[in-house]
Amino acid sequence: MSLVIVGSLAFDTIQTPWERRERIVGGSGTYCSLAASFFTNPKIVGVVGKDFPAAVLKLFKARGVDTEGLEVRPGKTFYWEGRYGYDPNQRETIRTDINVYEGYRPQLPAAYRKADIVFLANIDPDLQDDILAQVRKPELVAMDTMNHWIRSKPEAIGRVLKKVDILFANDEEIRMLTKEANLIKAGKKILAAGPRLVVTKKGEHGALVFGRKFVFGVPAHPCEDVVDPTGAGDSFAGGFLGYLDKMKRFSHPDIRRAAVYGSVLASFAIEDFGIDRLKTLTQREIEARFRRFKKLVSF
Ligand code: AMP
Repeated sequence: MSLVIVGSLAFDTIQTPWERRERIVGGSGTYCSLAASFFTNPKIVGVVGKDFPAAVLKLFKARGVDTEGLEVRPGKTFYWEGRYGYDPNQRETIRTDINVYEGYRPQLPAAYRKADIVFLANIDPDLQDDILAQVRKPELVAMDTMNHWIRSKPEAIGRVLKKVDILFANDEEIRMLTKEANLIKAGKKILAAGPRLVVTKKGEHGALVFGRKFVFGVPAHPCEDVVDPTGAGDSFAGGFLGYLDKMKRFSHPDIRRAAVYGSVLASFAIEDFGIDRLKTLTQREIEARFRRFKKLVSF
């Protein structure tokens, strides 16, 4: 099977209550592809400026991420600055500079158009829609978004939402999208709008996956040292969809396991700043933590 991921590739400046890191590599597409690369060879779509480190492009190649759909353009890479409070689920965006994503309309390489799974990671919803128009007949389409786009382009998000099978969103985004405080009611509203599954990520409290006749809760790994929560959501989606791409099936038991792998990948991503932990992560560590999750929830 094949998994195409469109998202952002970015420089992030991160402020936590303990530390500040300037211009480290991040982006929804970056985190998601690296997480998915532990299960499959994802194809990434996006654009970076000439300032983007060659070492990260090399890392993609080394991890088996297909970069044919990645453009390098004159100009500056997407920039995002965020600040976390003592509660890692609370994050404030200080600044977003779209930079080379301004007016970016990719032409998907031929091999990408035959994708079986398409993940529209957090990026301009018009761009997400544009990608969907270029793929032939994917078996599964999933999307993510962010408060920035829900506020600025609600109409475009509604349009994309109708065309996807799975929505990944955190609880704040689901409430914003549906104007509904109760997450179960909000989830039902989303299911009525198109998707068959809603994956509600609740940061350090795990995630809830629900469909019309299906509910599954997965905890987050009890982590004592959350260094940088950035990318947890994207790594969750990368682990989840990478696993499904590897299994080539989307049955309910597969979806449950995919959600646990999503939570495992997210739990590693937050152990260090940016993508640093994903750089050193091994298959062995992933499987060991997957087994620990099993113990955590069996009773
Ligand atoms: P997450 O923590 O999983 O929600 O995603 C964090 C990543 O999203 C960061 O690395 C940012 O570079 C990226 N990001 C932040 N704002 C946006 C935006 N408006 N569009 C696309 N990507 C963004």
